[in-house]
Amino acid sequence: MKAFAPRAQRLAALEERIFDVLVIGGGITGAAVARDAAARGLSAALVEKGDWASGTSWRSSKLIHGGLRYLKTGNVRLVFESLSERARLSRLAPHLVRPTDFLFPAYRGRGVPGWQLDVGLTLYDLLAFGREARRHRRLSREETLRRERMLESPELAGAGLYSDGRTDDARLTLENVLDAASLGAEPVSRVAVEALEKDPQGRVRGARGRDLESGRALVIRARTVVNATGPWGDTLRKWDDADAHAVLRLSRGAHLTVPAARLPVAEAVAFPMDDGRLVFAVPYGSVTLLGTTDTDHRGAVEDVRAAPEDVAYILTAARRTFPAAALSDADVVSTFASLRPLVAQPGVGVGETSREEAIEVAPSGLVTVTGGKLTTHVRMGRKAVDAAAKQLAASGVSAGRSRTSDRPFPGAPAQPMPEFVALLLGGRDANQYLSDETITHLAYRYGRRAWDVLRLTVEDRSLSRPIVEGLSDIDAEIVFGARFEDARSLFDVLARRTHLFWQAPGQGMEALERAADLLGKELGWTPDRRRSACDEYGREVARSREWKQRS
Ligand code: FAD
Repeated sequence: MKAFAPRAQRLAALEERIFDVLVIGGGITGAAVARDAAARGLSAALVEKGDWASGTSWRSSKLIHGGLRYLKTGNVRLVFESLSERARLSRLAPHLVRPTDFLFPAYRGRGVPGWQLDVGLTLYDLLAFGREARRHRRLSREETLRRERMLESPELAGAGLYSDGRTDDARLTLENVLDAASLGAEPVSRVAVEALEKDPQGRVRGARGRDLESGRALVIRARTVVNATGPWGDTLRKWDDADAHAVLRLSRGAHLTVPAARLPVAEAVAFPMDDGRLVFAVPYGSVTLLGTTDTDHRGAVEDVRAAPEDVAYILTAARRTFPAAALSDADVVSTFASLRPLVAQPGVGVGETSREEAIEVAPSGLVTVTGGKLTTHVRMGRKAVDAAAKQLAASGVSAGRSRTSDRPFPGAPAQPMPEFVALLLGGRDANQYLSDETITHLAYRYGRRAWDVLRLTVEDRSLSRPIVEGLSDIDAEIVFGARFEDARSLFDVLARRTHLFWQAPGQGMEALERAADLLGKELGWTPDRRRSACDEYGREVARSREWKQRS
């Protein structure tokens, strides 16, 4: 199996080599840039100050979608491009992009009128251009309630049924990083850039940074630098040019989860609020994910959490749409929030601000790539490398043709997913200890890399144990995360490699000690380090619950 080289080796390479491209920021955008660059034969370094996807990219709504809402703001091009990228990702990462039925309820006297819904969904179908997703259907009130009894309300008139995709955002990011590494890139997490390096002509030629694990300063030399730091983008632009104007408008989006037993939606539901926002209720196994909000964020970029008003907004929306569930504060399992790095448009409200990506090349050559969506990351990566390639040409380096548009992701199985799942279920060595449900879960989380997770359970049967009783995640995933996926903290394994932080009733706290034993053994933690790791995780959980104290 292709995996990361040992971290020490990658760190050493950062200091020894001169890279064609240094990418700063290991969210979906930076990971896609590094992957595209490496696939073109360029030497690439990718540094991230936290874990992979630890910024915005693990806290999205986890949808691979065209963005139905943007039709209302007239952004037809963005919807068209996103739908085309949705089709691409479904092909290249079928284990990570799961086609999902969405119901869009229509009401008598409120919400989007039925005819408007029809027009919108027909346009959505047309823009998808017949690419794999099914065409929408209009359902009567009775049909709607047969499919989703939770929508029962006197004003319900019916619903539109359409198809979009669900994903695992953190893992999509990680698979980009893994693929970049397999193509020769040097990705290192927990390395923070602190300043940019320039040559006497003022051209950016690398960065100064710090290995956050050892505290050691380091210099990374590169012919071009890509700023893919999402919400931190303006900070780097200012490091490059103190007079640069801020271009970002940071919009906070919060989510919360409630137990599936309290809101047992059979399929995803998209429901419009009076302010025009579209809120989603998406089933994710043990929980239903609800979100999101869209409000200007005035605090520090590092300090993003769901505010009491965010939770109130989402719960009000849910109570209105699913009256029988009567959700209250007490039902909330977990919250998380993040910032959309939107490119500011003077005089335009936050909800209407464009979600399109923007690529800027500064006079120093610094390429900044911001905005965009998880859904469009492959395209963004390609376009950012196109911009970097123009700079490289001046240094006599020529980049090959982009190859990421049709390159499968590392976990993509050779067979269609149902066949692959059947194959995995048939590989009985490990299955004698694991339920079909767990094996299916591994198939969709890891794709063909699930064989490697299963191998761990064959070598050590105790790793077949569920991390949290009643859920499909198993101990082997913690070991696999540490050995093969760069996991360095309990939050990495419990929130991003698995999703217990937002899916388990106790947010993973119920399994913390055992998770710490497993991870600590892999990473050689001392008793003190183990204790501080548990405390760190506890603090993250407490932060996600702070809205309760502040409300
Ligand atoms: P980030 O993920 O924030 O990555 C930037 C990284 O840079 C961070 O990890 C940070 O730690 C690192 N960094 C910063 N400074 C430094 C430094 N000095 N040195 C080293 N590293 C540094 N899109 C969809 O397609 N579907 C959705 O359902 C969807 N839902 C969304 C919901 C919300 C609430 C939000 C906010 C966005 C959503 N999006 C969605 C959009 C999508 O999530 C974002 O566009 C995307 O995640 C941004 O990725 P990024 O890599 O640009 O930024």
